[in-house]
Amino acid sequence: MDKVLGTINGMDFTIGDSLLELSYLIAALLFVYGLKLLSHPATARRGNLWAAGGMGLAMITTLLLHKNDSGAGIPLLNMWIIIAFIGIGSAIGWIIARRVKMTAMPQLVSLFNASGGAASMLVALLEYPNAIAGDIGSILVTVLGLIIGSVAFSGSVIAWAKLDGRVGDIMKPFMTYINLVLLIVTLGMGVFVVFSPTPPSDLMWAIYALTVLSLVYGVMFVMPIGGADMPVVISLLNALTGIAAAMAGFIYGNQAMILGGILVGAAGMILTMLMCKAMNRSLLNVIIGSFGGGGAAGAEHEHGTIKEIQLSDAAVLLSYSQKIVIIPGYGLAVAQAQHIVHELDALLEGKGIEVKYAIHPVAGRMPGHMNVLLAEADVPYEQLVEMDAINPDMPNVDVAIVIGANDVVNPAAYDDPSSPIYGMPIIDAHLAKNIIIMKRGMGKGYAGIENYLFFNDKTRMLFGDAKSSIQKLVNEIKSM
Ligand code: NDP
Repeated sequence: MDKVLGTINGMDFTIGDSLLELSYLIAALLFVYGLKLLSHPATARRGNLWAAGGMGLAMITTLLLHKNDSGAGIPLLNMWIIIAFIGIGSAIGWIIARRVKMTAMPQLVSLFNASGGAASMLVALLEYPNAIAGDIGSILVTVLGLIIGSVAFSGSVIAWAKLDGRVGDIMKPFMTYINLVLLIVTLGMGVFVVFSPTPPSDLMWAIYALTVLSLVYGVMFVMPIGGADMPVVISLLNALTGIAAAMAGFIYGNQAMILGGILVGAAGMILTMLMCKAMNRSLLNVIIGSFGGGGAAGAEHEHGTIKEIQLSDAAVLLSYSQKIVIIPGYGLAVAQAQHIVHELDALLEGKGIEVKYAIHPVAGRMPGHMNVLLAEADVPYEQLVEMDAINPDMPNVDVAIVIGANDVVNPAAYDDPSSPIYGMPIIDAHLAKNIIIMKRGMGKGYAGIENYLFFNDKTRMLFGDAKSSIQKLVNEIKSM
């Protein structure tokens, strides 16, 4: 196994080394294959398993075949310590992932992002003193890993706390300027450390200061973001975690870490761009933490009257329609009404009615939330129509049934410049001929603002928990 094959940079390259590099190549291929499968809900679960298999392979071969600069493998005691902690971490991750509710998924993603950021931050802190003065390349990746990892760590902790309702939005106009100054000071300090001729061991004060500055920036840049804008931030933090992991990979010259990190960073960045487009926000605004709206209500609108609909009337209206669009939102996930809503759509389709689901990119609490939820209930993918594709057809729709959705159908996004969601594309439920809205009461959505779609002349409210309302509606239609 240890037969020397050749020498690279004065170091022996053994069969074990080539097996290790080969395993990293296989791991990278598995990551890419996994990502490809993740692009469709039907194959996403398998994609996750393939990519996790790639990571598992890279971890095992590293433990068995990695050697330090003097050619020694990992000492047995360290090996056991590493295995023990991998075991503990995996057990905790397994239990949390099995228990977490789908509606709390973004919080879990934020905590995972925080762990990734913290790991990269610690790697950079531990490895900086070993950097060689004047080796700008290695100091640069260490400093970048430290800054990006720290921002991703503290930012993700705040994102978790905000999503979990533990801290509110703190948005003051001057915070934009503080954030900008903080960002400039942090980057300036980073440039100083990278180009300073002082040996790293004498610059530890600067590294600690840089860590504190980056951690504070992470907190400050996520803190003001409120309203409906969190999806962009979660996705951006995810991308940052990937980039930080890639930097840690550069520090160790580990191909699997570099590739895995770059793939997460690139995928996260693409998702961030798509989310920005969906929310009609610019990325620059996200970075300086200036958008948000902080849940503040927009200008007061004249309220009309709320009209309720009886179950029997709703059942008749639906049964005599030709075209129905169901608009699912966060409340559908809370009520776990995905199975019963599928029963409703199958019942209506059985009567020859065309039923489609309108999917808003940020409906629910995580990207793709509605796709995942409806896939769980075996709703055929052909029935799910993206917002841009369904909106032109909305005026031809006999009934739009809005189930537990609020912000994603709020017309204030079109015509109230003072609204925090102004400019965000929405599903044009207001253009349908009739609108039925199912929710428990007059509760607000994530952005914390009034929705005057509820007061529209064409709208009738069916109050109650989404699951039990739909169940009653299904029974009513069956008994007709
Ligand atoms: P909203 O959060 O705007 O509204 C959900 C509505 O569901 C509430 O008004 C609530 O009203 C109702 N509801 C809650 N529980 C139930 C229940 N058991 N039965 C029936 N209704 C219920 O949801 P949307 O999906 O419309 O919008 C998503 C929002 O979340 C957007 O602002 C988006 O930006 C944000 N977001 C999205 C993320 C993503 O990645 N998708 C991540 C983080 C935030 P009531 O209390 O009266 O029942």
